[in-house]
Amino acid sequence: MVRLYTDHPVYANDIADEARLFAGREEIVPSDGEDCDISITLTEQNGFWRATAKADLNGKHAEYTLERPAYSGEALEVKRREKRAMKIAAFRALRAIYGFTPPWGSLTGIRPTRLLRELIEREGEAEALNMMAEDFDVSADKLALARGIVEVQSPMLAGLSDSVADVYVNIPFCPTKCSYCSFPSKVRTAGDDMDAYLSALERDIELGAALLRDSARSVRALYIGGGTPTVLDARELARLFDALRRHYGNFGGEFTLEAGRPDSITKEKLAVLRAYGVTRVSVNPQSMNAKTLALVGRSHTPGDVERAFALAREAGFDNINMDVIAGLPGEDAKDMEYTLERIARLSPESLTVHTLALKRASLLVTDGEAFPLPEAALAAEMLRLGAAFARGLGMRPYYMYRQKFMRGNLENVGYAKPGSECVYNVDMMEDAASILAHGAGGMTKRVFDAQRRVERVPAPKDIEAYAAKVEALAAEKRSLFLDFN
Ligand code: SF4
Repeated sequence: MVRLYTDHPVYANDIADEARLFAGREEIVPSDGEDCDISITLTEQNGFWRATAKADLNGKHAEYTLERPAYSGEALEVKRREKRAMKIAAFRALRAIYGFTPPWGSLTGIRPTRLLRELIEREGEAEALNMMAEDFDVSADKLALARGIVEVQSPMLAGLSDSVADVYVNIPFCPTKCSYCSFPSKVRTAGDDMDAYLSALERDIELGAALLRDSARSVRALYIGGGTPTVLDARELARLFDALRRHYGNFGGEFTLEAGRPDSITKEKLAVLRAYGVTRVSVNPQSMNAKTLALVGRSHTPGDVERAFALAREAGFDNINMDVIAGLPGEDAKDMEYTLERIARLSPESLTVHTLALKRASLLVTDGEAFPLPEAALAAEMLRLGAAFARGLGMRPYYMYRQKFMRGNLENVGYAKPGSECVYNVDMMEDAASILAHGAGGMTKRVFDAQRRVERVPAPKDIEAYAAKVEALAAEKRSLFLDFN
């Protein structure tokens, strides 16, 4: 347990995130200052802020003081800068105690690419890169990764306005539960009333399409995710697509369906996707090692992945994504290499390399004893292998995101061949465009870019609660998109 005191409790959670970079899953608890392991204070004197961190941990003592000119402009910016100063001071004191520097430095709770883009716009490229390295202690490797992504995203985000939105549909069901899963996805059983869920979705889609029409917005990209959307049978998929077509019209843009689990992909379903204009699908192995797939509770074999991929190609899909995870239990670099070699033979258009995140809700955490996990350094090596294979396939990194509790404080990176990037993924991860979500657990977001602000309407994760709330949710989304400025 790490006891943390700050004289600015409003930033306590953000400072605790810095401590988690070093202390991992150790509990961080607030302290009143009497008996604490870390103390972070912020004072102002003669026009300067002094953020001071003192840490007494693991039998060591470290102190760090950051001095910055005090800022007295807009309230939101004052908070941002105060918080940043305190986080950096905490990070540097803790770094001295623990003796290592996390690859993304003190960055937590912010997308590195978004921050870098904003800094480049405000300060120019050279100063932005300097600030990322000097102020935030981001490593040279990670800085190069973020810089490359910002460059690839630049034409995708150019001219983006509030007159468009992405549409997301959530199918929160899966064939089985993966042990690392922390999504509120449910294993589909014969007892599930899919008819009721699809009826609720149809109404949700009808109301959402009316809202976009009334707010004079057009659809930029469509994305059906989950869960595993292909747990729906061909008839159910056609019913969902009919509703989308009826209300949103014949959409001719980027249209992704995350098929995901290869064991749920059939020729018949792929024919339905093609008939309704889906342009991009995912076939996700996560690993091509049969023993790992069995260990993490995925109900498919590496052979199923290859069969599903071949079916998707035969159906005419020329934009197929595959997902892998670095750091799965029991895997080493050779296992990762084997996975990537088998994937390279299939030659997908894009590859997403995830780092295992140890979420509390997953079986891997609740039943940790049963799952031996690779060390952080090994996960980093696996990510390097993923990057090298993606480069070998002619791909470039085009989006990335980080989550809490990722092995080694690393990242998830999406790679794609030029022209095969997924606009929705970029919009979603960068908070670049508003998203109108349909379905249980869907998160509707309106992006107010000028204010760098995002407002959200979350749908209940529970399927019955969602179905009961469709009309009320639609009213909230309407207010967010039409009344809220
Ligand atoms: S396929 Fe994805 S959503 Fe479904 S259980 Fe596995 S990790 Fe969770």
